[in-house]
Amino acid sequence: MALRLFNTMSSQIEEFRPLRDQDVRMYACGPTVYDYGHIGNFRTFIAVDLLRRFLRQSGYKIHHVMNITDVDDKIIRNSARDGVTVQQYTAKYEKAFLEDAAMIGIEQPTLVRATEHINDMAEFVKKLVDKGLAYRTDDGSYYFRIAKFPGYGKLSKRDFTGMLDGARVDVDEYDKDSARDFALWKAPKPGEASWDTAIGPGRPGWHLECSVMSMKELGESFDLHAGGEDLVFPHHENEIAQSESLTGKPFAHFWFHARFLLVEGEKMSKSLGNFFTLRDLVLKGHKPSSLRYLLTSVPYRNQLNFTFDGLKQAAVSVERLRNFRLRLQGGNFATGSNPQMQALASETVGRMRAALEDDLNTAQAQAAIFEMVRQANTALDSGGVKKDDVAPLLGALAKFDEIFAVLDDDDVPKMKQVMDWAVKEGREKDISDTLREAVQSGKLSDSDIEAKIAEMKSARASRDFKKSDTIRAELTDAGILIEITKDGIRWRRK
Ligand code: AMP
Ligand code: ZN
Repeated sequence: MALRLFNTMSSQIEEFRPLRDQDVRMYACGPTVYDYGHIGNFRTFIAVDLLRRFLRQSGYKIHHVMNITDVDDKIIRNSARDGVTVQQYTAKYEKAFLEDAAMIGIEQPTLVRATEHINDMAEFVKKLVDKGLAYRTDDGSYYFRIAKFPGYGKLSKRDFTGMLDGARVDVDEYDKDSARDFALWKAPKPGEASWDTAIGPGRPGWHLECSVMSMKELGESFDLHAGGEDLVFPHHENEIAQSESLTGKPFAHFWFHARFLLVEGEKMSKSLGNFFTLRDLVLKGHKPSSLRYLLTSVPYRNQLNFTFDGLKQAAVSVERLRNFRLRLQGGNFATGSNPQMQALASETVGRMRAALEDDLNTAQAQAAIFEMVRQANTALDSGGVKKDDVAPLLGALAKFDEIFAVLDDDDVPKMKQVMDWAVKEGREKDISDTLREAVQSGKLSDSDIEAKIAEMKSARASRDFKKSDTIRAELTDAGILIEITKDGIRWRRK
């Protein structure tokens, strides 16, 4: 079976096959680095990360490019307001974005920056003008003439025939009802950043960036283009118009869009007070792994309603998976194997695969792993897991984690980074007690703890229970919960 994926262009689920054998060339619209990323942004970026990881698990070689939009209307406005250069303004937020992406387990794609491709963009505009597809206005701006592209509207499924030819719009974002010739290149305005190029001074429009950089990195036709659902119009529609009218070839074969995230049932907005960055949540004491788990728990095309209850629930789910793995890693098992456990492990791998092949049904994949954990935990309680069953069960967990990436217990150092950042930014008052406690309990690293547990085990083996108790008390003081069972010693952070 192959991956079946919804293609916004055809409005259908189609079998995904790359244009070139086993190589997948994909482009994702990246962040506009004018502020810290919010959890909605990360829903989309994680959906793309999951797709990338699953394609790799399926044996493909991935060439995944993402742009950093480091010049656009908002950036120009804010940098002019603050009296700094565009680069100075965006450097801080690009760094923050990359730190946040790593914190939430996103593998880094090849990054391309708009400001490093200004000349390529000017050249692209020139080619469009030479072909009669774009025109210059008196102020030195350039517009794409949408009447020249009969397919305009094919992605967003809108019929734009009869639209006023030559009516223009120069903002980067606008709605469907104001579809007009859009700005490819904007002439300089007083106090705004601009670049001197072969087509005159100015700066690129947002849509142009992605066409130029994606085709430069991936070729004129590539496999998949991704973003949040808000990008279908005008951004992706405009990318298609510019690119296809110039090359005469299909631009991206698959269009992948993640549904917008809601917060407590509402659209996220600063004025409603339901707007959260990743860092806001960590400051409240939530673990990055809980958020990653929550954001993957609803398939990317379904409505995901972020709630704090859901986040707590996600933390419990991650904890259960981690504890199960510790139980397998730390237990003593009788020799031999149990065919039921062997079958359970391999069926779970099959079920996870089938779920993900079904348009990335992450909810079903998670359900499959939890069913395995439930059945295996019951078997563990009654000695039904034998030595040779451990590897296949751990193997199924590993397959799960290649995609979901929540099993490694590395939350505490990440949370500490956010705490240190808050101190540096003068936001100490935003650090919750929960975060302080979590960081405090995490001072011992996993390997420190494992070493202490090993010491405890050998003390107990030589019946030195006093020593074992002393170590246990030391660990408890550091916020580590110890459980001594007949399978061995288990631990977890409070
Ligand atoms: P931006 O930084 O605004 O250019 O957005 C970066 C990415 O996040 C784009 O793919 C957007 O479509 C996506 N995005 C923005 N808001 C949300 C949201 N509430 N839910 C899901 N994706 C979003
Ligand atoms: Zn884009």
